[in-house]
Order: sequence, then structure tokens, then C-alpha cells
Amino acid sequence: MHCVICGKEFQPWGVSGFDTCKECFFKQREGIFWTGIPKGKRLKVLKSLEEAQDIFSDMWSAYIWGGVGVGKTTLAVNGLFWWRVEQFFKESFANEYLFLQRGSLYSSLHIEYTIRSNLLSVENWIDELTKRELIVLDDFGSGSEAVRSDYIVDFWHTVIDEREKERIPTIITSNLSLEQLRDVFGETIPSRIVGLVEDRIYHKEGEDYRLKGGEV
Ligand SMILES: [Zn+2]
Repeated sequence: MHCVICGKEFQPWGVSGFDTCKECFFKQREGIFWTGIPKGKRLKVLKSLEEAQDIFSDMWSAYIWGGVGVGKTTLAVNGLFWWRVEQFFKESFANEYLFLQRGSLYSSLHIEYTIRSNLLSVENWIDELTKRELIVLDDFGSGSEAVRSDYIVDFWHTVIDEREKERIPTIITSNLSLEQLRDVFGETIPSRIVGLVEDRIYHKEGEDYRLKGGEV
């Protein structure tokens, strides 16, 4: 197949019927697909879309864990990316997603809201995090020294419980295994996460990822 924009030959990708190469597709729709995705992540996203397509081919929730710098966030962003591509081809283009970066959220509830960058009340945050059609929780469970408070645990319990009930797409990355997450949050949140992502628990190590089906 040849790209209708640049003329380059390309392998079929994404949703069938694409008549442009990947680069042209995203370049053309920059405003739609890159919104809320950190600038520094964009190049990596394009480079490793295939890996994510593999993981997120039939389900949009996953728990991706592993050490620092192994590409967990990139994988999560790519999942978000594919979701948006899929949405783009639906009649109603769902665009209600949220990418929560590591940082303030997990140690306090002053959350950097990457879409409108305004601060919301806790109630509003719970609402946002439960209603969004897809959320990415990046580096979940970090800042664990502060996370232990009942308040924070309740907050996340509410959010994850709601999403689990409705099986709403949720991509979570963490430095912690679900077992280690238990030490931070107690039993219920990790077990709700398993309910939410089913067997999509990946241990990411460098370029590789391993499916750790159902293991907690
Ligand atoms: Zn092209």
C-alpha cells in the first residue's frame, strides 16, 4: 500500500482501511491525538506503537509494572493512543480521557490536571476519575509514604471500585507489583485492580514485557 499523502509504501496498520502511513496519519491530526500527551513522550510513542497494539488489541485496561526507565509510561501512552485511534473511527468520537502523570496526585490531592490545568476539589476529582471513558494512572502508588492515610486509600478505592464495576478502560503503571501495592493500599485496591484489568498484568523489563496472567 502507498500512503496517499507522502507516497511512501507502508504496511497495513491500525484500523483496516487506513490509506495513510502512520507518520502522516498522526501529523495530520496532531491536535486531536496529541492533546494531553507530554511532548517528551511523543517520539517514543510513534516508535513503539506496535508493542502497544499487541497488548491493547482487544481490551483497554492493563496494569504495567516494573523498574524505573523501562518504558512503562510510553506503553501506557501508546495504549491511550490506540484507544483514541479506535474512537476516531467510531460515529461518536469519544474523547473523554485523562492522563495523570506522576507527581502531586499520589502524595496529596493537589492534582495537576493535564487537560484544563485547573485545580478541582476532591469531589470533582472523584467524579472526573470515575466518569472518564479512559484514564491512565501513571506511576500509581508512588509517594507511598504519604499514601497510607485512610483518606487517600478511600479516594482511590472509590475511583477504582467504580471503574471496576463498569469495566471502564483504565491503564495503570507502577514501580510496584500488585503484591507490593498491597503494602501501600491494603487488600482491596489491588484486588479491584485485578478485577478491572483481568489478566492484563504486565511486568515490563527494558524492551520486553511479560504477561503475568492473574498473578498477584
Ligand atoms: Zn505518509
